Amino acid sequence: MWLILFFMGGTAALSQETKTDTLWIESTPVEIRQSNYGTNAGDIVFLNVHENESTSVKAAEQYLEGKEGKLLRVHQSGKRFLSFRLKTTTFQFDPNRIFSEKGREATLKGNNKTYLPVVEKKVEEFAEQLLSNISDAKVIVALHNNTDGGPLTIKTFPVKHRYVNPAMDADDFVLTTEKSIFDQLKKKKINVVLETSANTVDDGSLSIYCSKKKIPYINIEAQQGHQSQQVKMMNALSDILKQYTN
Ligand SMILES: [Zn+2]
Repeated sequence: MWLILFFMGGTAALSQETKTDTLWIESTPVEIRQSNYGTNAGDIVFLNVHENESTSVKAAEQYLEGKEGKLLRVHQSGKRFLSFRLKTTTFQFDPNRIFSEKGREATLKGNNKTYLPVVEKKVEEFAEQLLSNISDAKVIVALHNNTDGGPLTIKTFPVKHRYVNPAMDADDFVLTTEKSIFDQLKKKKINVVLETSANTVDDGSLSIYCSKKKIPYINIEAQQGHQSQQVKMMNALSDILKQYTN
């Protein structure tokens, strides 16, 4: 019994390697926590940018045990927004609105009393550093959680761009920029949305960035607390993700 436990513990330790990088916005640190699972971990990147959406991280950790992938987590204060100080002023922004100039300007203007172009530049530098951590990915899986009911459910999206399984909670769904992933998930009866440049505006989110750069993008959304439902959606994606690693 002791031998078996020891062996299992040893295997788990080998399959995952964790490191932390610190990125700086002026003099304010933001940690990027990285866990690698399997040998080709970097091909499939799981990314959590909203730290309060903790169910999605637990689901990814559960799913990735024994699979391939890199899990990246942005860590600062445990909140949705990141903040930093420039001289005597603290600025905050949504880390999923920073991947275009338009998005950065909007999130900074919407969440702070003052706006300065230099602040947008600081956030741009942070976005570039964050993106350098995922630049080799063959597919990106964004991890998000939402609240029960509105404002975001699968029903928020136009009928012609979505597949709804009425047996699933409307808060639990996958959004992708790839038609082939949409079709495969629909076949598996998973709630899914196809995001195209025709049905979205540039809000600086990672999905828009990935479409522009032609990087296959998948966002797994589930209601906060719906860990098993989120793992189930990841399991449905497992063979689809493998198609991107060859
Ligand atoms: Zn989110």
